[in-house]
Amino acid sequence: MTERSNGPTERDIGRSTDEELEYKPKGSTEVTTMPWIDSHQHTQTLTLNDRERFDLSGCRAAVMIAAGYYWSPYRPVSPSDVRFLWDDALRRGRSFSRAHFYEQYIAIGIHTWSRVDDWQELINALPGYANEKEVVAIGETGIESTQHTLQWDLEDQRAVLAAQMDVAREEDLAVIVHTPGSNKGAIPEWMLDNYEENNANFTESILDPENAKLEAVEIDIEIMNDIGLKDERVLIDHADETVIEYVMDETNCYLGFTVSAPWLRNIDVEVIAEAIETYGSDRIIIDTDLAGSLKNDPFCMKRTMFDLARLGVSESDIRNVVYENPKQLYGIDA
Ligand SMILES: [Zn+2]
Repeated sequence: MTERSNGPTERDIGRSTDEELEYKPKGSTEVTTMPWIDSHQHTQTLTLNDRERFDLSGCRAAVMIAAGYYWSPYRPVSPSDVRFLWDDALRRGRSFSRAHFYEQYIAIGIHTWSRVDDWQELINALPGYANEKEVVAIGETGIESTQHTLQWDLEDQRAVLAAQMDVAREEDLAVIVHTPGSNKGAIPEWMLDNYEENNANFTESILDPENAKLEAVEIDIEIMNDIGLKDERVLIDHADETVIEYVMDETNCYLGFTVSAPWLRNIDVEVIAEAIETYGSDRIIIDTDLAGSLKNDPFCMKRTMFDLARLGVSESDIRNVVYENPKQLYGIDA
């Protein structure tokens, strides 16, 4: 143990040694001013004060998911319900861009978390929306193991995902792939008050509940390959330890870690740091998935960046996962 010097004080003040003060991450301040982009958030469910916190902490751009499933006021969900959500996102996205210092981008799609009847009508409308300049992605979408209230069978989910990936390929858009996990039984009983939805609203799992995330991702990738959508346009999101190896070893997709609700997503920053150390930072993205229906922290991106620095992740790696990679994936200049 290094000798502490108390200098002139009468009492032992536990003062840090010079060695401790040289602790590496604190030797640099770049991470405090580093810009970031949020690749996935439900901006329309947050408040103006929340969005101001993005400005305060260095946000340059954020992608708002237009398909806020939890906004569907009743079931079944019709195409016009979903169109309302898409239209609302376009309208409000421009207001957010105008009011804030970051750029608001939008992802349009059919979320599989609530079954949508006559979804083909939406696929027909999708290319028109894809041409709007704020729209940078299709999503979030992807195979889900459970739905809210009304089950969506696997065959139909495959079809709706394939149709959307096909539009993304045609229109040269990124695809944000939602993966299962935050579903029935995954949330400890005592935490349910942190979440607007509750277990009673979820259907039974159509995949193996113990292995749903990996099973779903394997189907997502199979469909991506069938459609001929390029890996580098795809973000496999809400990753946990069960899918890291598969996505990094077997595909060239981006792997997304969602950090706004660790109590729900079962991921912590040490796992992210380890993935960066193992696979490098070129195909890893950190996003928030901030949503007003969950207990959340609008500063979570910045706090995660600080924690990565404390864990010894280099500044260039942090910059890749929060800024350079999202820019590349969405083709945006932020
Ligand atoms: Zn999601």
